[in-house]
Amino acid sequence: MIELAVYASKSEQSQGRRHQEPAPSNRSEFQRDRDRIVHAGAFRRLEYKTQVFINHEGDLFRTRLTHSLEVAQIARVLARSLRLSEDLTEAIALAHDLGHTPFGHAGQDELNACMREFAPEAGGFEHNLQSLRVVDELEERYAAFNGLNLCFETREGILKHCSLTHAKRLGDVGQRFIDRTQPSLEAQLANLADEIAYNNHDIDDGLRSGLLTLEQLQTVPIFARHYAQVLKAWPNLATRRVVSETIRSMINTLITDVTQTTSAKLAQAQPDDAQAARRCGPLVAFSSDVRHEADALKKFLFENLYRHYKVIRMTNKARRIVRELFSAFLQEPRLLPPDYWHDDKTVQARAISDYIAGMTDRYAIREHHRLFRMGEQFD
Ligand code: MG
Repeated sequence: MIELAVYASKSEQSQGRRHQEPAPSNRSEFQRDRDRIVHAGAFRRLEYKTQVFINHEGDLFRTRLTHSLEVAQIARVLARSLRLSEDLTEAIALAHDLGHTPFGHAGQDELNACMREFAPEAGGFEHNLQSLRVVDELEERYAAFNGLNLCFETREGILKHCSLTHAKRLGDVGQRFIDRTQPSLEAQLANLADEIAYNNHDIDDGLRSGLLTLEQLQTVPIFARHYAQVLKAWPNLATRRVVSETIRSMINTLITDVTQTTSAKLAQAQPDDAQAARRCGPLVAFSSDVRHEADALKKFLFENLYRHYKVIRMTNKARRIVRELFSAFLQEPRLLPPDYWHDDKTVQARAISDYIAGMTDRYAIREHHRLFRMGEQFD
């Protein structure tokens, strides 16, 4: 086994769990976190939640589950080559999207709009905060506590962004937003691995769906360069394989670049331990050239894929479903299962947003049918 670097997060030096538990006997604390995440109900539901495409538009598109697995794979490669904790970064990667609503960002934006008017300290809806809420409160699996009772380091990594208002009420995991320090290096890795994963698989899914074309992608420097290299090496290869080889080569280049850039930054900053690394500013990064190229790719995907009229049609429908579910439940909370009934309006609204956020794409569509279509009222 490779020895961890001095600045790696060590399981045995964890800042602990919210509820004390005996140490695990045959695995580390971070491994236990990862295992709890894999067994969570919210993790299984990721299979039927959208990344960009509505779930089951096609069986080969990424879902939140396969996306999370790809993020974990990339994060682990990075962690191992930088001698950081693979277990911690894997746990963070697998949990990072647990709070996602059905229908991807469209669902989140709509739920946020629905929740905006409620209680300033808890108003709005944000998927990072919701992921933390899932692991801290909403999972009901253990006798002694709500949630999964994960280690501080895993929870800190899940909470990628957060407003100062929210940070102040979140306690230990919110503190870094007030102090303006960084999360662990493993959390920083998981975050960049997320970006590498979605940029690349969205190209793949975009091409497969026919919403993007190879001609369009040739205008994106990072894609054009790798594509030309693949074609040069294999001039007669079938297009599908050329695309896969191009994406494979891009992911490799990005991983190598992060490893080299981060190693150099670590060598310069020389943090003595994981705590010191948090005070160094962001240490996990692309080189500036690659950052520039990755940003250009992101911009291209935003304009050509996420804003494609066919995607907008789907997201528009998705937003309507979320909006109508929310207002129907708010008007008549008795449409919800009894566990979700509350007297206080704000608490009621939060329970509704938890209920909707927990839905898969297809469950939300079915629920909408059940509530709004006559003839199906006894479902
Ligand atoms: Mg993600």
